[in-house]
Amino acid sequence: MINDLHHYLKSFFETSELNHLHENYGGGRIFSNPLIGVAQGGDPIFQKFKEVVGSEHLTPLELWLAEGQERIHASELRVISIVLPYVDKIRNESKNIKKFSRVKLPAEIYSIGRNYANSFKQETCRQIIGFFNKKSYRTVAGMLSESFSIMVKGSFYSTWSERHIAFATGLGTFSLHEGLITEVGCNIRLASVVTNAPLKITQRKNDDPYTNCLYYSKGICRECEERCPANAIDENGHNKIKCYEYGQKIAGKVIARIGPILKPHVRCVNRILRPPSYPVGCAFCQFGVPCMDKNPTAKM
Ligand code: SF4
Ligand code: SF4
Repeated sequence: MINDLHHYLKSFFETSELNHLHENYGGGRIFSNPLIGVAQGGDPIFQKFKEVVGSEHLTPLELWLAEGQERIHASELRVISIVLPYVDKIRNESKNIKKFSRVKLPAEIYSIGRNYANSFKQETCRQIIGFFNKKSYRTVAGMLSESFSIMVKGSFYSTWSERHIAFATGLGTFSLHEGLITEVGCNIRLASVVTNAPLKITQRKNDDPYTNCLYYSKGICRECEERCPANAIDENGHNKIKCYEYGQKIAGKVIARIGPILKPHVRCVNRILRPPSYPVGCAFCQFGVPCMDKNPTAKM
């Protein structure tokens, strides 16, 4: 069944209007073909996320029940994570961007791709829900759930972390810049669902959360640190506050330039619905680095 889903999603990625840039930027695809990983809903790692992400982080069963589904044993649930890799055109145009103003801005093509990604990720989840509905299985999605919220409590985290879910399914590991490094790199977006379809599990290679990062595994690289214009990365990791503040500066400038073609995004912060925002990304730390489009430790 997972191969059928993969084929279905590949076709959806090829044909969906939502997976296209605005015509001002060529109208090409935003994401190339997806990768899929599957974890068992009762995997103890989901309890561990309550310690490493935050106590409000939901287990698959908690998300399932929050969405009004019938109580079943957690081990009967499957968690599917989907990697959405940005196309080479976006990556290539983002690599050598120069500073044109006081605030170094990402390539506009990336800002559009980052902004349009939210609606495409949501539609990807809806497509998967429909795919399993037709087979008489139930499916829920964290990003579509009212139980999803960004939590601001000293730092930032969410009640359903797509990166942690992807790690649980064996799709990648964490890194110095805090992105998830998959076999197709870190310059990706992620989505996930929880279903009662009895899918085969894709095993994690191991439980080490940092094996794909050259700095954490070999003590070398740190190229993401050099590329960050906000000094938000150092040998101790990624400073979310500095990163957020720089992202706000970028958003102000980019919205002023291309606001009319951006899509609004609505989200809850500390469980309160906020006015629409227009995320446009930054991600200098992901472009032109060894982990941009591959797992740099794969051949080591
Ligand atoms: S650029 Fe190097 S140090 Fe930074 S996350 Fe990628 S592999 Fe790790
Ligand atoms: S997203 Fe931007 S500000 Fe944040 S760590 Fe990466 S390069 Fe730095």
